Amino acid sequence: MRRLLLAGNWKMHLDLRGAMQLAAGLKRELADVVDRDVAIFPPYPFLADVCDTVQDSNIEVGAQNLHPEPQGAFTGEVAPAMLTSVGCQWVIVGHSERRDLFGEKDPFLNKKVRAALAAGLKPILCVGEHLEERDAGRAESVVRGQVVACLEGFAAADIERVTLAYEPVWAIGTGRTATPEQANDMHGVVRALVGELFGSGVAAGVRILYGGSVKPSNSKALLAEAEIDGALVGGASLKVEDFVQIVKS
Ligand code: PEP
Repeated sequence: MRRLLLAGNWKMHLDLRGAMQLAAGLKRELADVVDRDVAIFPPYPFLADVCDTVQDSNIEVGAQNLHPEPQGAFTGEVAPAMLTSVGCQWVIVGHSERRDLFGEKDPFLNKKVRAALAAGLKPILCVGEHLEERDAGRAESVVRGQVVACLEGFAAADIERVTLAYEPVWAIGTGRTATPEQANDMHGVVRALVGELFGSGVAAGVRILYGGSVKPSNSKALLAEAEIDGALVGGASLKVEDFVQIVKS
């Protein structure tokens, strides 16, 4: 019932030429993929060109961030309608690098999810605990708290357009992956929480991606878990062969 979604977060990598080559390679190699969704998240300056490159393909494009205000004196920021105007359909909200390096907190992320939905973008809301929180037995309460705060005040109909990504911070870019069981358990916790907050129908339909050192060698086992509806991939989304293998897992 839930289609898999494979999302590639290119972070702050590549130049225009590299971005175009990657987008063109993925378009070519993924042309036969029809049973799952694919989205790529290039840096801001490449969005318009990448959108053009993958037009008329099964690949959609999103931004790695957005600002919740529609316009104004916010030097260096990008508004939701700017993203849709160049062809973006998706946006990542609350990646742990935004939370940890740029101080983004749940109430601000709540505004970003709201602004994304209002602009017609499909947000991927990231949540996840740090290692010390897991070691202290607080992983579930941290993740639950993030979901509650970031989705406070939303209606069930809004959540039908939201994708969640469980990304344990200790697994991002570290080569250390949550086991399929660890990830599946946390996805179950998040889905049950969505059920409590928005009803069982919404919970059954919401996609929950896993992110954290997903690569061709572990993607199949992760995606085989019942509660894992796809992956948010960082490093391994920068090479055509690797991301193609993950998508086709
Ligand atoms: C990410 O950027 O969301 C991510 C999970 O990165 P990596 O796959 O490199 O761990």
